[in-house]
Amino acid sequence: MSGRRRLVLLAAGATALALLTGPALAVAEPGDPGSPRYGQGADGVGDPYFPLAGNGGIDVLHYDLDLDYTPAPPAPAPVEGRLDGVATIDLVATQDLDRFNLDLRGLTASRVTVGGKPMAFEQTENELVISPRPKIKAGAPRRVVVTYGGTTTRPTDIEGALYGWVTTRDGAMVVSEPDGSATWFPVNDHPTDKSSYSFEITVPEGLVAVANGLPAGQPTTVDGTTTWYWDAPDPMAAYLATASVGDYVVNEYVAANGTPIFDAVDPTRLGSPSANLALTSDMLVFFEGLYGPYPFISYGAIVDDDSVGYALETQTRSFFSRTASQGTVAHELAHQWMGDHVSPHRWADIWLNEGWATYSTWMWTEHRGGDTAQAAFDDYLSIPADDDEWDVVVADPGPLGLFLNPIYDRGAATLHALRLEIGDAAFFEVAQTWVERFGGGTASTADFIALAQEVSGEDLEAFFDVWLFTPEKPVAW
Ligand SMILES: [Zn+2]
Repeated sequence: MSGRRRLVLLAAGATALALLTGPALAVAEPGDPGSPRYGQGADGVGDPYFPLAGNGGIDVLHYDLDLDYTPAPPAPAPVEGRLDGVATIDLVATQDLDRFNLDLRGLTASRVTVGGKPMAFEQTENELVISPRPKIKAGAPRRVVVTYGGTTTRPTDIEGALYGWVTTRDGAMVVSEPDGSATWFPVNDHPTDKSSYSFEITVPEGLVAVANGLPAGQPTTVDGTTTWYWDAPDPMAAYLATASVGDYVVNEYVAANGTPIFDAVDPTRLGSPSANLALTSDMLVFFEGLYGPYPFISYGAIVDDDSVGYALETQTRSFFSRTASQGTVAHELAHQWMGDHVSPHRWADIWLNEGWATYSTWMWTEHRGGDTAQAAFDDYLSIPADDDEWDVVVADPGPLGLFLNPIYDRGAATLHALRLEIGDAAFFEVAQTWVERFGGGTASTADFIALAQEVSGEDLEAFFDVWLFTPEKPVAW
């Protein structure tokens, strides 16, 4: 993500706490009387920042999302749309289940089948609770089909920023970091459960629906609606899925490294954003040199004429609000390795996304003959020690601190300082091994520290303690 660099509002704390507490759901323990073996999957994966994000007891392999969407008619606010979906979810039980949850918020499920048979279910504010009969044994695969729908609006996250299925006058901007996917499909909404996706999105004729991956066949138009087909086989965290809809101009080409590119740009934004997007091919070659082969089957950008206030590295298809500066284009592309292919194990690890993406822009700027990474580092370290820039614990910023400036800039400075500490050869070996070893899954700050020590052969505990865990300006390392 790029562009959200707000300070924490202390007044928001009380609201945040209420949100974090969430609606109470009775959780049956596996040992409950009458349920000697089968239990309920937990209502979250155990991420302390977002306790209801994701769910226990299931591992989703594939989402097939059949969406039917009509955006708001040109009318006064509020901007609303109508979304109807059928989500076909192939999952495996990771424990014996008599109930399990999916995350779903603001839309209403009307029918749930498991293994082709209708099942009992209930919905709370954030959770769709399904009671499969017969119960599901650990290790058993099941196809779960959820029919759902409702009115779409402009949802906001814990910080009050727009996210999820954000309705626009000509479509929708779909950007879901960290836990907004539940606003548009029933989902195991945490990066630790990556899945492949396919999409079939029907919109009014004349609009373009752009999802992740590659087009799966030509769009078809029948009776005033057009259906767009997308296939995204690379494992993907739910927050990186998109299905943005708009009045887009499509540009398809093949980059210098062989990656197929699919850009979708609002016709009013074809000026400077497109000029910067045209650097994508060169950037792919540059970042492959730093981090290893581009990890996915395609890339491209969506540039909308509305704004969520930031850009997001939606997997294989980065999303930009109105503008796309060269630095932001580089930032979101670098995220494809750092954040998308290797994703945070817990949201506290977000600096590994944003620090790497920011540092990638520093290196790209140097590569293009601008300021060196060293100059950017020196500039950052010129911030006075009493500035509140240094008050954040970068490796544990709290759920309201995910997108604070230090997560980006101190994260990048931490990486540059590590490079100075262990040398270029070891530093880039760390970067490439990181992508190779953890790509397709998630990794934590502890994993990163362990890898840096393994590759460099140095004891770096004190170094990382200063840079990542101490809310003060680093003075020596
Ligand atoms: Zn970012």
